[in-house]
Amino acid sequence: MIYHQFNIIKKTGLTSAVKDDDARKVMIVNSFSFLTALLCTFCGVSLSLISGQWIILYTAMAFVAGFLSILLLNRKHHYAMAKFGLLFVYCCVMLYYGTTFGESTQVHFLGLFLIGVPLLICSPKERGLKCACMAMPLTGLILLEANYYYQVVQPMELTRSMTFAFRWLIMAVVVVLNGMVISFYQVNIASLVKTLGIRNRSLRKRHEEIAGKEAELKLAYKELESYNEKLEREVENRTAQLNANYKVQGEILKDLQHTLAQMKRKDLQLEEYVAELETLRANLTTARDEAENANAAKSAFLREISHEIRNPLNAIIGISYLLLNDKSNKGKVPRDIVSYIENIYTSSHSLLEIINNVLELAKIEAGKTDDIRQESFALRDWLRSVVTIYQNAARLKDVGLQLQIDNGLPSHILGDRVHLSQILNNLLANAIKFTPANKKVTLYCFKKNALQWCIRVADEGVGIAKEKQGLIFQPFEQADKTIYHKFGGTGLGLAISKRIAELMGGEIEVWSQPGEGTAFTVTLPLKIEKNQQLQEIVPGKKQFSVLPSSKRILLMEDNQTNQMIMERFFSNIGIQIMIADNGQDGVAMTRAHMPDLIIMDMHMPKLTGREALKIIREDPALRHIPVIAISADAFREQQEAALEAGVNEYLIKPVEFDRLYEVVDKYLDAPCFVTAERMVAKVS
Ligand code: ADP
Repeated sequence: MIYHQFNIIKKTGLTSAVKDDDARKVMIVNSFSFLTALLCTFCGVSLSLISGQWIILYTAMAFVAGFLSILLLNRKHHYAMAKFGLLFVYCCVMLYYGTTFGESTQVHFLGLFLIGVPLLICSPKERGLKCACMAMPLTGLILLEANYYYQVVQPMELTRSMTFAFRWLIMAVVVVLNGMVISFYQVNIASLVKTLGIRNRSLRKRHEEIAGKEAELKLAYKELESYNEKLEREVENRTAQLNANYKVQGEILKDLQHTLAQMKRKDLQLEEYVAELETLRANLTTARDEAENANAAKSAFLREISHEIRNPLNAIIGISYLLLNDKSNKGKVPRDIVSYIENIYTSSHSLLEIINNVLELAKIEAGKTDDIRQESFALRDWLRSVVTIYQNAARLKDVGLQLQIDNGLPSHILGDRVHLSQILNNLLANAIKFTPANKKVTLYCFKKNALQWCIRVADEGVGIAKEKQGLIFQPFEQADKTIYHKFGGTGLGLAISKRIAELMGGEIEVWSQPGEGTAFTVTLPLKIEKNQQLQEIVPGKKQFSVLPSSKRILLMEDNQTNQMIMERFFSNIGIQIMIADNGQDGVAMTRAHMPDLIIMDMHMPKLTGREALKIIREDPALRHIPVIAISADAFREQQEAALEAGVNEYLIKPVEFDRLYEVVDKYLDAPCFVTAERMVAKVS
């Protein structure tokens, strides 16, 4: 119970916030204060009773109050002040009793006890407080000794037995207090030892843990080392690889740089090439323009030349034809003169062929290709008329010329008569040219199958060497240069014939045996006009039959030779034609005489053929009259322009009389029907 109460007093002023060590010091202060207050009370009472001096009791009570106020200070949590206060009250007690009872009572021993107290109650942090608390009892001791020596305060008059009793009482108090100090030290030491033990155990545990951790660490370290070694090896390998790669990359980089430099050089070169090309292209464009201009000029020139040659050629061929075929001359002209005329006729045909070929080549070079016409024409008639032309040439060379036509062929076929004539002329002219006297040339015309027909010109001439057979179809190529010296020629005929055949959807082939002969076969698609009602001209009819003399034909032609030729031709077939020297007269005569047919030259003075035609076609009274144009303009576009303008037929000079007869016959038979229909279409 008492112990419990003491414990409560001992813990005065403690809170949970106060640390263990500080709490212990507060409890020591409380214990010292309380126990000393008790001792002080006991001593005060005892000494008062012994001495009979009640002042001792009163002062003792004041000291007791001082000790209890220490408890109060702790209760108020003024711990430092309480510590200082405790030492202060002790010092006061020591000074009071020391001076009051004198040196023989041994009160100064209390000072020795007090020097040890601050060590117990002050923590190492409270160094200043500790010093002050230790300085106080020392100062008290010094003051006390000084007082003993100098006798400043006179001690109480005590008897010998009282002094003896006082000394023993005070000594007992000092012993008790020292015992308390020692016991507190002991407790402190014990708690320190205990703490140390705990610390030691925990340290040992820590040490063990550390040792365990150390072992683990060692293991980990070992693993780390091996891993490190592995890593180092890998790093070495990688470094080696990287070095190798770096080396390779360096080489690649070098290569790339080299290539880049090359590319840059190439780029520069390319730029130079491009610049050169640009210049070249500009030059080429200029050259092309110049070439095109030159070509156009050449074409215009050829057109002019062709036109200029055809007019006199028309006269030569026409006159020689008329001379050869005029019945009234028969027997009157000497044989050698006839032969000269035949020569003139044949040569002028050769000349015509050359002109035709040169014109065709000019067209090819100018990039113009004629459209292939699909017109119905009498096949046998056409073949015979061509053969007739070459009969003279063959006769002059004593070469036989035969025509064999397959009976299976239709009377009329669809095709381009002009272009076909060009091929046939070339082949026949060559065959006759390369065939010696007393040999023969045969023209076969036959049906190959339901879709194709063929023209074959076979001769018994010199033949062509195998190796030359592929070359002869190229322009300006001849099988043998000696041929040129012997036979002449341009080397154009076969090239042009091949091209025309291909344009028609056909082909041309050659077979030849040197010394035996040559055969050229043209294969063409067979096209027939549906519901064809046209009459075939009876084979063998060579002479033109007389046409009805009542028919009126007006010829508009400024060239007098041509007028004469036409007049003779028509008088031979029973018609007296009217002639106008220019377009203007031609229109006037048309109005005056209303002819059944007009034959018109396209180049005339005063009114050109085109202008005259316009007037006729625009006049309702005249527009039905069929008009046949005869012109030296051999170009396809010129023909087409004339047909567009309203001519019914277009014949090219030199005129083929067979063809002229054919168309005249056709339009005199049914002129109005054909013309009227065409014109209705045109005017609308
Ligand atoms: P050319 O105007 O020279 O006759 P072509 O193109 O018509 O030109 O003929 C080319 C060459 O083919 C001739 O020069 C000739 O060497 C050869 N040739 C053509 N037809 C015959 C043939 N029937 N017999 C022998 N050689 C021929």
